[in-house]
Amino acid sequence: MSSSCRIRIARTASTPGVSTTREYVVPVDRQMTVLDALFHVQREQDPSLSFRCSCRVGMCGTCAMMINWQPKLACQTRIETLEADTITVGPLEHLPVMKDLIVSLKPFFDKWKQIRPALHAKNPNDKTLAVVPPSSEFGQQAHRKWDCITCGACYSACGLVGTNDGYVGPAAINKAMLRLLDPRDNEVKERLNVLNSEEGVWRCHTQFNCVAACPKGLNLTDSIMRMKRAMLRPGKFSYKRNFVNPS
Ligand code: SF4
Repeated sequence: MSSSCRIRIARTASTPGVSTTREYVVPVDRQMTVLDALFHVQREQDPSLSFRCSCRVGMCGTCAMMINWQPKLACQTRIETLEADTITVGPLEHLPVMKDLIVSLKPFFDKWKQIRPALHAKNPNDKTLAVVPPSSEFGQQAHRKWDCITCGACYSACGLVGTNDGYVGPAAINKAMLRLLDPRDNEVKERLNVLNSEEGVWRCHTQFNCVAACPKGLNLTDSIMRMKRAMLRPGKFSYKRNFVNPS
């Protein structure tokens, strides 16, 4: 691997709505990530470069951005693995750019809120613990699909989000599925109405872009297909409290 790399970064010009790119050359070593390279540019070459990050260990999702035209977490993407002498870095697609690599996640979270992501317990004052058998559908799906860090990568990768402003998107559908399967939750009809609407699950064309983009390895297309099948069996979630084994 070359000991330096060229990094081409999208920059926002002072004129509203105008963007441009600037190139920088940064020294690299084997462990260096794209986020490390951005910090190098900011500290050594151009302090006006703006980007967001927080945990730096792939847990918060804050540093999601387009890296070589694919949504990725900058802190998880080692430069060496990109196998390119020039790396192109830009803001997440399908979201309004605030400055340089920083986007507003408001459209993403507006959709997230539509499916009512919080737990709506049937009896909020009931202190009884609900035991969910790992073999139940919720037990199995929660194990594999509960790790969403709301980074927005799947939303940015989705071709349908790009052509339909209203589509709720893969992350929101996955969250709705988990809440619908959750035996403690009692908000079924409201979520099904969103999922079964024109901007719900039926918009998905099964492109699998979300699956390829998710840094946590969630199979979002599987969640969407499960919800499509559930729409054809509207009584499915009426029985979910059978999963509960009160202790
Ligand atoms: Fe990010 Fe994956 Fe959650 Fe989408 S499902 S927001 S890609 S962690």
